[in-house]
Amino acid sequence: MKDEIYPFVNPPLNFGYDALEPYIDEKTMCLHHSRHLQTYTDNLNAALRDRPQLQRMPLWKLTQGSLPDSVKQNAGGIYNHRFYFDGLCPCAAQRPSGALANAITRQFGSFFDFRKQFLDTALSVFGSGYAWLTARGNRLTIRKTANQEVPPFSERHILNLDVWEHAYYLKHYNMRADYINSWFCVVNWSKAERNFTHS
Ligand code: MN
Repeated sequence: MKDEIYPFVNPPLNFGYDALEPYIDEKTMCLHHSRHLQTYTDNLNAALRDRPQLQRMPLWKLTQGSLPDSVKQNAGGIYNHRFYFDGLCPCAAQRPSGALANAITRQFGSFFDFRKQFLDTALSVFGSGYAWLTARGNRLTIRKTANQEVPPFSERHILNLDVWEHAYYLKHYNMRADYINSWFCVVNWSKAERNFTHS
């Protein structure tokens, strides 16, 4: 995904919009994917149409450095959303396993402590943004980004959580913590572990 180039497309999700019920509702998933992510995709294509020198640049590179806002923000919107959707799965209540589970325990004390710290970070995003789990070597970091900023690619991206209000407002209104606790029930920990071990 990160190496894709112009023109960008918005592929269907690996599961139905209703597959994450009751944790993330069908209408939110449908609007989030078919409207919000689609708009970032359309807007990035429009921004690149008259910039042939950027058309061969991979998606990840379009999210970094000093590029026009219309390019960088929309590229970030695509990367962050696709990473978020890829990090979800209908098989509820997975737990981390293997090398990632060991790293979490080593770094945070326990999965419970990790979860608390991730929740606190996600709650502390002021306005719109994301909470992230990233890694350098075996060292994990919980961090946040504003709007559609993307963490540097000198870190491996393991997991992200969209805390823009459009990700939860229809079901949870202003209760971001309720949404985060629901999200923990549909995290694709297998995917997160592959991100931890394979890049
Ligand atoms: Mn979003």
